[in-house]
Amino acid sequence: MQTWNDMKQIQPLVSQMLVNSFKKDRISHAYLFQGSRGTGKREISKLFAKSIFCPNRDGAEPCHACNACHRIESGNHPDVHWIEPDGMSIKKDQILRLQKEFTYTGMESNRKIYVVVGADKMTANASNRLLKFLEEPSRQTTAMLLTENGQAILDTIRSRCQLMAFQPLHSVHLEEKLVEEGISESNAKLLASLTNNLAEALEFDEENWFANARKLVIQLIEVLQNKPNEALLFINHQWMPHFKEREQLQRGLDLLIFWFKDMINHDLGRDEAIVYIQEIDRMEQASMRWSRQNIVESLTSILEAKRKINQNVHPTLVMEQLTLHLKR
Ligand SMILES: [Zn+2]
Repeated sequence: MQTWNDMKQIQPLVSQMLVNSFKKDRISHAYLFQGSRGTGKREISKLFAKSIFCPNRDGAEPCHACNACHRIESGNHPDVHWIEPDGMSIKKDQILRLQKEFTYTGMESNRKIYVVVGADKMTANASNRLLKFLEEPSRQTTAMLLTENGQAILDTIRSRCQLMAFQPLHSVHLEEKLVEEGISESNAKLLASLTNNLAEALEFDEENWFANARKLVIQLIEVLQNKPNEALLFINHQWMPHFKEREQLQRGLDLLIFWFKDMINHDLGRDEAIVYIQEIDRMEQASMRWSRQNIVESLTSILEAKRKINQNVHPTLVMEQLTLHLKR
């Protein structure tokens, strides 16, 4: 259960626009909620539905305690319909069934809401059916179409919707979401630095790929400090097998960049900016070995390596060259 105040922290613009449209009684017939996974599209749909149906609301804020609020929360309100992909797609039949429902007047009032989750997954037939539905709006009906990919939705549908662009999560909120998904706090902080997309962050975390990547970065630093002559061996036998794809190697290099940035932040006493939060002891030891000049040069060569990977230079070659630079 989330309130408008909660949602304003995460999606200030969208929340404000919806609350205003509610207060001014200018609710659109159709909204297109567009934004990546985890940005609050479902939560805001529910909240907006509660604002509309709650009899005890205070301004736009629903009470979250009445029968209507409870039923909307659990997806059982008779006048709030949810359509989700049936398998890979949303089919024409699902839209037809919805339309049929809507020919009867509302059970509890004349108002009706429908939410289409994954609206980009509608088949061509389903899209055309929905379009017809949108073309004959009744004053009492509100549609909310939710999508991660607005471009995949028919122009004719999009043009009938008020577009609401959901912003990527601020890294603090992404961290919270990741911890909710069962990721440790230290990994969540590092993952949130790597991407602002929840789905992508969760993908990184699959099969321990990310935890191992993080371990390899720290091992590389240790090898460079303590056994520089074994660094190339380490790259060939440990590093390269883990970062097989170019895209993966880019993320590995990003993690390496964070390490050196952390050393600078630690040096400046800006510990709150550190992302390798569990490695402060190690960082302290490292700071004795790396001068500021060394660190800046290292960052420059890592950025150079990232450029070369983009230019299709062979990854192993790029990493070997980088290692030689970092050893100095
Ligand atoms: Zn209520």
